[in-house]
Amino acid sequence: MKDLIILGNGIAGMTAALYAKRANLDFKIVGRDEYDFGQIANAIMVENYPGIEPMPGFDLAMKIHDQLENNGIKIEEHEVLKVWPGITPENRIDWRIAYKDGEDKAKAIIYALGAKHRELNCEIEEGIPIHYCALCDGNFYKGKDVAIIGGGDVAFTQAEYLSKICKNVVILMCDENITAWPSTAERVKEIKNVSIEYNFPIKSIKKRDGRIYLFTEISNPALSFKYGPIVDGVFVAIGMVPNIEPIVEKEIICPNSYYIYTNDECCSNRDGFYAAGDIRGKTTRQAITAAADGATAVHSVCSYLSRYWSK
Ligand SMILES: Cc1cc2nc3c(=O)[nH]c(=O)nc-3n(C[C@H](O)[C@H](O)[C@H](O)COP(=O)(O)OP(=O)(O)OC[C@H]3O[C@@H](n4cnc5c(N)ncnc54)[C@H](O)[C@@H]3O)c2cc1C
Repeated sequence: MKDLIILGNGIAGMTAALYAKRANLDFKIVGRDEYDFGQIANAIMVENYPGIEPMPGFDLAMKIHDQLENNGIKIEEHEVLKVWPGITPENRIDWRIAYKDGEDKAKAIIYALGAKHRELNCEIEEGIPIHYCALCDGNFYKGKDVAIIGGGDVAFTQAEYLSKICKNVVILMCDENITAWPSTAERVKEIKNVSIEYNFPIKSIKKRDGRIYLFTEISNPALSFKYGPIVDGVFVAIGMVPNIEPIVEKEIICPNSYYIYTNDECCSNRDGFYAAGDIRGKTTRQAITAAADGATAVHSVCSYLSRYWSK
C-alpha cells in the first residue's frame, strides 16, 4: 500500500507531488487527464504568481508539470468516483479510492480535486452553446457581439479579453454589486466596446433568427418578461462549485459547507485525510495559496505517517 495518494493535478496536487518526492514518500498523483491542470488553465494571464513574468495560466501549469517530470513523477490518469475510509487487518485506518477504471488504497490521501464552474440556472433553449472560458472559446466570436454573465473578477477579466476579439461585449449582472477588484473593474469600465447592464438576472435564453436573446423577469405583470441585449455568444462566470461528490463521509469532512473543513495544516477532521487548494474552506483561492496548501498538506502527512503508521 502507498504512503500517500494525491488526488488532482491542479496547482495544489502537483505542488504536493513535488514535496512528497522531496520527503521521499512512496506516493502517486492521480488526475482525470495528465494535461487537465484545472482552473489555472482558464486564466488568460497570470500576473500575480511570484517570480514569474506574466504568462497564460496553462503555461504556468505546464512549467510545474515539466518540473514533476524532471523529478521522475508521472501523473496517473484516473477519474475519481468515490473516496472512503477502510480498516486494515492490523486495525488501522486507510483510505480507499474507486476510480472509473479500478480501485486503490493508501495510508493517507491529499484531496485536491478543486472546483468546477457554477452553471447558469435558467431556461436555455436547446442547441445554444454556453461558454465558461473566454480564452478557450472567445475566438468563435471574432467581430461579433457577446454577453458575459457575472460581476466578479473572472467576469471582468474575461470581458476585457473578449473586448479585443469581439465587436461588443456586455456584462450582465443580477444586481449592482461588482465584486471584481476595483482596479480591474475601473479598467474594464473604460473600454469603449464594453458595457454593463445592472439588475438583469437571466431567466431564459432563446434563439431568434440566428441570434441569441437574453430575457429577464420584470415586475410589470402585463409584460412579465423583457429581453436585453441581442448577442451571438454567451459566456458565464458566476463562481465555482467544489468537487466534493466523491467524498462518502461528506457530513463529517465538509460539515455545513460545500468546502472541506481543515485546520491551517490542511488536516481534515478524519485521520489520514488531507485537503489542499480551492477545495478547502478558506478565504483566498489563488494559485499561490493552492501551491502553499500542497506543501503544507505533505508536511502534515509526513508527521501523521510517523505518528500513526510507524508504531
Ligand atoms: C478564469 C480563472 C482565472 C484565474 N486567474 C488566476 C490568476 O490570475 N492568479 C491566481 O493566482 N489564481 C487565479 N485563479 C484561481 C486559480 O486558478 C485556482 O485558485 C487554482 O488553480 C486552484 O488549484 P487547485 O489545484 O486547488 O484546483 P483546480 O485547479 O480546480 O484543479 C483540480 C484538479 O483535479 C482534477 N479533478 C477534478 N475532479 C476530478 C475527478 N473526479 N477525478 C480526477 N481528477 C479530477 C482536475 O482535472 C484538476 O486537475 C483563476 C481561476 C479561474 C477560474
